[in-house]
Amino acid sequence: MSQLTLVIPVFNEGAPLTDNVRAIREAVARIPEHRFQFLLVDDGSTDDSFIHLSAIRDTYADVSVLRLTRNFGKEAAIQAGLEHVDEASDAVIVMDADMQHPPALIPGMVALWNSGIDVVEAEKIRRQSESAISRWMAEVFYRIFFLLTGMDIRNQSDFKLLDRRVLDFYRNLHERERFFRGMIHWGGFPLARLTFEVSPRRHGNSRWSRFKLWRYSISAITSFSSAPLHFITILGALTFVVSIIFSAKALYDKFSGVALGGFTTVILLQLFIGSTLMISLGLLGIYVARIHDEVKRRPSYIVDWRVNSQKSASDENK
Ligand code: UDP
Ligand code: MG
Repeated sequence: MSQLTLVIPVFNEGAPLTDNVRAIREAVARIPEHRFQFLLVDDGSTDDSFIHLSAIRDTYADVSVLRLTRNFGKEAAIQAGLEHVDEASDAVIVMDADMQHPPALIPGMVALWNSGIDVVEAEKIRRQSESAISRWMAEVFYRIFFLLTGMDIRNQSDFKLLDRRVLDFYRNLHERERFFRGMIHWGGFPLARLTFEVSPRRHGNSRWSRFKLWRYSISAITSFSSAPLHFITILGALTFVVSIIFSAKALYDKFSGVALGGFTTVILLQLFIGSTLMISLGLLGIYVARIHDEVKRRPSYIVDWRVNSQKSASDENK
């Protein structure tokens, strides 16, 4: 009998957590051949989520709760969870706490894992719960990501089953800023996909603001590709060629006595070169900021409390 751990990041999910965890438990109860454990990661919720999580933990013997000191973001919460999965687990399943990842998919994922697949990804087929502009932005992001990295992760979600060896691979990566979907894909392990329809959130709104999503996309792209840096070098070379042509024309005009005029050209060139330089500098800045964040080597999350499941040998409070 294998053991699987479900890692579930939670941020301000409140009272519905109790029902959601119950629904997930009912789905995995249909897989009697394996033992399931739950690791709920409270990503610094500011509502009463932690109280509900503690009550859930007291009700079920196989639930552990990990609380972070503040909100570190979903990626950090997933990382915290994956790094605290106990050594006896043969696989993990990462899923959301808001029921947008249907628990009914879990038996299918486990069946694929039983057949020797290391990574089972759940792919969104319809995202009608999201606004048209969100869908369009996601589409643009995935296209750019594919163009720059060659990795097609369109419609991927963080709902994934990972075999133990993929978990170990993930834990051995040392970058601070993480893009879970990309990192798992990058590992290149045998992979299968299942599809699901994203149902509307049952309670509350998405915990992601547009600004957070923008930063997340930039971080994802810069951690997997340095192509934008090469692109600005090429852009620099092109403007250099254009500048030679214009210089030749300017010199010709000067010696043939028609040097006056050409103000428009000067203004246009100023604007073009100025903005190209600004964009290039900004891009460089993004990469420098990433290096800056990485070299500080601060932890991506800080654990406040850890309450192990009642099945574990000892409870540990940090
Ligand atoms: N979440 C988290 N930390 C955050 C934001 C979200 O742990 O800073 C959790 C949230 O509780 C949920 C999952 O990540 O379980 C997905 O969040 P959400 O539903 O808001 O995102 P969406 O479904 O819109 O991608
Ligand atoms: Mg959601």
